[in-house]
Amino acid sequence: MDIIGMRNHFREQLKALHSFPAIDVLYKQLLQAFFQWTPTVVGLHPQHPLTQAEEERLLDALAALQQHQPIQYIIGHTSFYGLQIEVNEATLIPRPETEELVDIITREWEATPPATLLDLGTGSGCIALALKSHFPKAQVAGIDNAPAALAIAKKNATRLHLQIDFQLQDIEQLAVSAVPLDLIVSNPPYVHKEEQLAPNVYNYEPHQALFSPPDDPLFLYEKIAAFGIQSIKPNGKIYFEINPLDAPQLKEKMHSLGYVDLSLRKDIFGKLRFLIASKK
Ligand code: GLN
Repeated sequence: MDIIGMRNHFREQLKALHSFPAIDVLYKQLLQAFFQWTPTVVGLHPQHPLTQAEEERLLDALAALQQHQPIQYIIGHTSFYGLQIEVNEATLIPRPETEELVDIITREWEATPPATLLDLGTGSGCIALALKSHFPKAQVAGIDNAPAALAIAKKNATRLHLQIDFQLQDIEQLAVSAVPLDLIVSNPPYVHKEEQLAPNVYNYEPHQALFSPPDDPLFLYEKIAAFGIQSIKPNGKIYFEINPLDAPQLKEKMHSLGYVDLSLRKDIFGKLRFLIASKK
């Protein structure tokens, strides 16, 4: 089979799940990731024959896509804030909303870059890595309680030549930070157990990184906020990615913990997705 023949096979096999343009994007991502064939090269050589090994690799990926496996896990990486981030089923796949959160932080701290910052529930390390690449002088730490996720975060840091202090630790057991922090950022698990997730998310991504504690969706946020009150410098800030369903209660809670300048912001999809607060 040649390149275009296989693309037609992908279209045929995936048409119940995706539009043709979406299938073509997936196909091109596979060609690029597996064989380093850029979309331009592919466009110039549609009749280029595939070897049997290449064909088998693409057919395996096709079967995985039919099972709703995310493309990011199939190819093993994704792009986040301009960085290539390795991911696997131990880590959440970085979302565009989370890039927005990083973007908010980089804009707010452009004039006076942070000296110290901490990412809680770092997963693949994407937030910590993006902030370290933007603020190279900052001392950046990332904490997660999943050893398999931290292993990927460390691999990412090494490959990207970014120096980050990744630590295996539970958010519930945080001690006061030895170094006062300019900012804390966190995208903790926040999906409520009754929320319906798409099969590509529910069946493949780590539930530990998705679902908030069943009886108390704000539990981790409260732990982080309480730690923040003791560990953030005066005028330092905390940046949360949140579930819109939790927005009013969380705002109230942060207020009662003593945070000021509370601001809820919407993501590109129009959902209340971020809560930002300052420490007095
Ligand atoms: N944004 C992710 C989702 O909706 C959830 C991320 C999280 O729980 N922190 O699938």
